[in-house]
Amino acid sequence: MKSKQGNVGVVGAGISGLSAALSLSTFGIEVTVFERADDIRGEGVGIQLTPNASKSLKELGLLDEIIRKCFYPRQLVVNDMRSLKSLKEINLGNAMVKKYGFPYVTISRSVLHKALLEKCKKLKVKFKHGAAIRSVYQNEELVICENTNGQKSHFDYMCVCDGIRSQNNNLNLKNGLKTSGSVVFRKIYSNTDLVQVIQKNINVWMGDDCHLVSYPINSMGHINIVFAVNKKLVKKIMSISKKPEFLIDLLKIKNRTLIDLLKNIQDWKKWPLYNTGFITKVNHITEGRVLFMGDAAHPLYPHLAQGAAMALEDGRVLFKLLKKNKGIYDETFQEFATSRFRRCQRMQIESQINGHIFQLGWPLRDIRNMFIKTLGSRLIDKSWIYKF
Ligand SMILES: Cc1cc2nc3c(=O)[nH]c(=O)nc-3n(C[C@H](O)[C@H](O)[C@H](O)COP(=O)(O)OP(=O)(O)OC[C@H]3O[C@@H](n4cnc5c(N)ncnc54)[C@H](O)[C@@H]3O)c2cc1C
Repeated sequence: MKSKQGNVGVVGAGISGLSAALSLSTFGIEVTVFERADDIRGEGVGIQLTPNASKSLKELGLLDEIIRKCFYPRQLVVNDMRSLKSLKEINLGNAMVKKYGFPYVTISRSVLHKALLEKCKKLKVKFKHGAAIRSVYQNEELVICENTNGQKSHFDYMCVCDGIRSQNNNLNLKNGLKTSGSVVFRKIYSNTDLVQVIQKNINVWMGDDCHLVSYPINSMGHINIVFAVNKKLVKKIMSISKKPEFLIDLLKIKNRTLIDLLKNIQDWKKWPLYNTGFITKVNHITEGRVLFMGDAAHPLYPHLAQGAAMALEDGRVLFKLLKKNKGIYDETFQEFATSRFRRCQRMQIESQINGHIFQLGWPLRDIRNMFIKTLGSRLIDKSWIYKF
């Protein structure tokens, strides 16, 4: 087994790149992160951190800080947009800590990003901003990355963490991922007059060909809203940014709480959803001395709220292997890929299925609603995800 403590290059300073840099630098490995953007900062939108994500933050030494800055939602409330009453409430708070050992919290993505970045800086990770990497290749001894100005850097190992539209991953997509036609509209909305059920809980509202998720990201009344729309409905919905009442009418929304939430919202920010497919080979996660992490390795639909959680898990698993092997070895990446493959694949499959279930139309939606009412906890509180 060949040992290389040497240096590692990381492409991308998103959640997976920073988690990787943090794991590696904690072991005294020299890390350089290349980030395409001139400025490294996370977006101000919200993120749910499920217990598996909190556990990863704990092992990366960041949970205490995140706990001070996050929001503890009381319940996950599942609703049908057309029903007056909710279908199911699942307790989060202490119930999650008791069951999984770690909390289920929500936070602004920029707060999480900043915490990761500052810890990396304390550990002397080097950052190269405005450095877009256009190719990564390797020989027997080294990995070489080349930026768009043709400058080359050499490393012993490399982690590719350049996100869902990666140009350097191993998924063999000639022109990157294709858009699925479905979109997500996002909004951070601040209104302290909203009812407690919105201000304290994560709410999911299921509609025909769409669903909406809202949750607070702090105790100052900032609510993150994610509105996922299937491609069948996208054209009709394009004018929502101007007319909330049109949207309420179009979706036949009866739920009073949702009407109150939506009636003043305009200027949604639109994101395309990509057709992620499924990873089918271990070498989608590693090849030789290159490791692919986060969305670059296992792109996900957002319908399980697990993309960032998986990026943090990647960092945690790498950390565990470095600890077990007392450093980085040629076999470390292979071990990583073998241990992550099935879970990443299952997550991709279930994220897609979850989206379909949330967006069922008549008559299947009535059957779904019946199952949620009777078996809701078992269907929604997914222990295979949270226990990891
Ligand atoms: C609508 C929506 C809601 C979501 N909600 C949640 C949620 O609630 N909970 C959750 O866990 N996840 C959620 N996710 C998923 C989550 O945001 C992503 O899975 C996660 O951010 C992936 O992190 P990453 O580091 O792999 O990629 P990214 O965050 O995309 O980071 C990639 C980085 O690489 C840089 N980069 C790209 N190309 C290059 C290059 N060639 N050279 C150098 N740098 C490059 C980019 O500038 C970027 O900084 C959501 C996603 C969406 C779309």
